[in-house]
Amino acid sequence: MLPGIHASVNGGLVNALSALHELGLLSGQIFTSNQKQWKGRPVTQEEEKKFGEDGTLTIISHASYLINLSSTKGRVSWLSANALQEELIRMQKLGIHWLVMHPGAHLDAGENQAIEKIAASVRKILTGAPEDTGILFENTAGQGTTLGYSFEQLDKLLKLTDMPDRTGICFDTCHAFAAGYDLSSEDAVLRTAQEFDEVVGLEKIQAFHINDSKKELGSRLDRHARIGEGFIGLEPLQYLASMEVFKNIPGITETPGSDIDRAKDAFAVMSN
Ligand SMILES: [Zn+2]
Ligand SMILES: [Zn+2]
Repeated sequence: MLPGIHASVNGGLVNALSALHELGLLSGQIFTSNQKQWKGRPVTQEEEKKFGEDGTLTIISHASYLINLSSTKGRVSWLSANALQEELIRMQKLGIHWLVMHPGAHLDAGENQAIEKIAASVRKILTGAPEDTGILFENTAGQGTTLGYSFEQLDKLLKLTDMPDRTGICFDTCHAFAAGYDLSSEDAVLRTAQEFDEVVGLEKIQAFHINDSKKELGSRLDRHARIGEGFIGLEPLQYLASMEVFKNIPGITETPGSDIDRAKDAFAVMSN
């Protein structure tokens, strides 16, 4: 994997890009706009230029936490689709290919209906979006009514969206573990990878979130821990990161602390 971190954008996008370089990372994840606001911000000319000139880092973007395409509230699903369209346009300006998105929460609509609704929306949004952008569905811990906690659901989202070149998976190790997929030993990693390969296909994974878990296997709680300080542990994550099939895939740490802490975590798991 390409060692990377979720980089703070408190100092702006250009500073985040510099920080990734200074830390010696090969990949990174950013929010291109305030993740807690519906209203997006336009990309500045300086940002477009600096990101355009950058040839060494693989950068991915993470969608706003407000987005829920499967919301039963018409206003929220409309705002979500709109925010995604704007996000994909910002990404194209920055030269970012993949957007990571949590599939959504079904509230009380039922899982299958919600999955169909999400897939139909994503298909429509991508059809109207810049061609060199795509969406990665992130697996979730299964907290509340959130979707995407099982490999079967992820497979269904990809199949129903039916745009194989424009969609893929971002695999979060903490979320998978919380959802009941064991990753706490080399054997467990191998078994979980095999299961994912049979149900979805390992080649669908375009990014990893490498996080340890503060909660036990199957807890369904999404609580990231520093690498080696949770129930997964350092060695199994190193083993996962060393798998040949993931050689050129970003491995992004989203662990507590600063960018420097997350970089330490990334280098503990991956070498550059
Ligand atoms: Zn994640
Ligand atoms: Zn999480």
